[in-house]
Amino acid sequence: MNVAHLVCLDCQREYSLDDPRWRCDCGGPLDIRYFPVFDISNIWERPPGMWSYREALPLKADAQMVSLGEPLTPLVPLKISGREVLMKQEQLFPTGSYKDRGVSLLISHLKSIGITDIVEDSSGNAGASMAAYAARAGMRCRILVPEGASAGKLTQIRAMGAKLQSVRGNRQAAADAAVQLADSLFYASHAWSPFFYHGTKTIAFEICQQLGWRPPEVLILPVGGGSLLLGAHIGFKELKQAGFISRLPRIIGVQAENCNPLARIFNSTDPTGDLPADFLPLPTIAEGIAVSRPIRHRQVIAAVKESKGAFISVSEAEIQGTYKNLLHRGFYVEPTAAATIAGVESFIRLYPDPRGVIASVLSGHGLKVQPV
Ligand SMILES: [Zn+2]
Repeated sequence: MNVAHLVCLDCQREYSLDDPRWRCDCGGPLDIRYFPVFDISNIWERPPGMWSYREALPLKADAQMVSLGEPLTPLVPLKISGREVLMKQEQLFPTGSYKDRGVSLLISHLKSIGITDIVEDSSGNAGASMAAYAARAGMRCRILVPEGASAGKLTQIRAMGAKLQSVRGNRQAAADAAVQLADSLFYASHAWSPFFYHGTKTIAFEICQQLGWRPPEVLILPVGGGSLLLGAHIGFKELKQAGFISRLPRIIGVQAENCNPLARIFNSTDPTGDLPADFLPLPTIAEGIAVSRPIRHRQVIAAVKESKGAFISVSEAEIQGTYKNLLHRGFYVEPTAAATIAGVESFIRLYPDPRGVIASVLSGHGLKVQPV
């Protein structure tokens, strides 16, 4: 990695990468400006997985990795509506979700700049991941969760020594409460921190590596805050800029119909517009993607547009049906993961004969939730 800066997406102001801040002084979200380096001989010599791409990650050369042994997750074929889809098994990460990609890089960075106390808000998986990697790094960690988060995820967070605080209200209320604490604790937000999606971008590197350095034609991903989708898009773009691939995959974002602000904006007459002020989400069993006010909505929509992709919304009945079907086919995942696959079914219905490879993900493990 060459010299890197934090840069504000709204006002373009730059800050040092070492600056312990979670957003710009203007309130805008930050990105990271730097040049990733892909050294194939290094990548092949190291154990497979996200850290084999270390020089393509924005972490100082002398920083230590905070790792729990993140695996190269398998790409497993699954017939969906008669079409073969390659499923990236992201539920096989150390804490049971893809969040470990982002958190491993984010905590590595925070440790390298001397942060010792963090706060994060989460509906479950990101909190569990943060608790694990904070424990691994020897940091103190406080996780704020909304009422009604899965008991199994709360047990996981508490068991790893994080201080757990339940916040009355929805997911947004937990985020607002975390911001209140950001004066005394570092707000290690997976929604705000660009280090998080520079960790999740390694999913793109791995998929291309597993397909013989070719991108899939279509990649279908769950979208709540959009950090997996943004990461994947950035990852493919970096591979293209480095000359490893010649095109980007079409990225299809899947949202629950009951909480689909991004799909609504994307499909509206003004896709550059803001989130609708009067948008009222309904509850969904896909709790991991129930984000009513995604911070990086413009960035996510621009990424889907650039990839010539689309958004798909799935109903609770579709998620429920797909969930049962996945369990009965041996994939013990959580309902949020089933929402993505319901989106894959929808996509194949809408485009019955898409050419090329379709890839998607199973985002979270079933062991921490009660089957619904
Ligand atoms: Zn700014």
